[in-house]
Amino acid sequence: MAKLAIIVLIATLAITTHVVFSQPVALKAQPIKFQNNYLNFEPPGLFDFLKWRWNALRDGHPKSAQIPTPIVTADLAFIHANSQAGSLMQPAVTWVGHATALVQFAGLTVLTDPIFSERASPLSLVGPKRAQPPGIALKDLPHIDVVLISHNHYDHLDEASVRALASQAGGAPLFVVPSGVKTWFTDLGITNVVELAWWQTHRMQSSSGPVEIVLTPVQHWSGRSLTDRMDTLWGGFAVFTKDFHFFHVGDTSYSRDFQDIATRFADRQPAHGFDLVLIPIGAYAPRWFMKDQHVDPEEAVQIHKDLRARQSVAYHWGTFSLSNEALDDPPIALAAALQAQGIPATAFSAIPIGQTLKLAARAER
Ligand code: ZN
Ligand code: ZN
Repeated sequence: MAKLAIIVLIATLAITTHVVFSQPVALKAQPIKFQNNYLNFEPPGLFDFLKWRWNALRDGHPKSAQIPTPIVTADLAFIHANSQAGSLMQPAVTWVGHATALVQFAGLTVLTDPIFSERASPLSLVGPKRAQPPGIALKDLPHIDVVLISHNHYDHLDEASVRALASQAGGAPLFVVPSGVKTWFTDLGITNVVELAWWQTHRMQSSSGPVEIVLTPVQHWSGRSLTDRMDTLWGGFAVFTKDFHFFHVGDTSYSRDFQDIATRFADRQPAHGFDLVLIPIGAYAPRWFMKDQHVDPEEAVQIHKDLRARQSVAYHWGTFSLSNEALDDPPIALAAALQAQGIPATAFSAIPIGQTLKLAARAER
């Protein structure tokens, strides 16, 4: 009887905290609409999910962070002035928290996977809660030109944040999303949306000239409920302008897709790869459960190398606890991985929430 009570308790905990929101448990067998290039991702069964949760509970994971995620006051004066600078814009990235970053280059102010809500969840009272407030509050954002959404998980596609952005002063930004995600926006009455399949390009103009936004494969999955796993696409975004090449990885496990991306764009990047790559470093433990969906910091460094990044910035850590590692583990593991591979710590930075990193424009044209 006691055993049954424990099972019921675990199942209830599982359903209220994780299953519905961020884990790939499928309730029923369903036809797969989208699949990865190098891994036939199958949502783990309920047994594996419960095993993970049970072991985490038994072992007391995640441990509390020893060091709170560093946060600094954002330089709003710079960010706002830069957003108005047109062709004189200084390339810069400001980490807002989790996979949300404000990236400025070539006259464009771009926001990645915006989540400003208190929880990464469909419910306001249940689900992973943020450890630090956003580095820039929604009301303090400059005008956003483009929002890049890597996939539809709750920690990357947040309804309240999208609604707020769509009603920003001066008109809605352009939302660029993977195949199948546009309907979600249309249902909210948001129409300024471009949907891309892998390797498809959206072309537009900024005050600095032509801009190309390409959705690339990465290895992940999608879903917002127990019955829509893999129904919509996921991906990374390569953004090319004359002066700056930017890459937003989103969520990924490690795969040959990153070598494919480097090869695909090699012709236009003869001297070096992307000028800025945002790479996830968190939500990786335990490996047996997470390795097919999230990279660990060592694999994140491999992505940095594959994409021949001039500068990488770590994100998807320190904000929402989604896995077994402590919130402050990822940057420690990243530092060790960089040292082991002889890469300077400054080349792949785990910057504080709110901090702006100013970057060099592209040397080759
Ligand atoms: Zn995800
Ligand atoms: Zn995520």
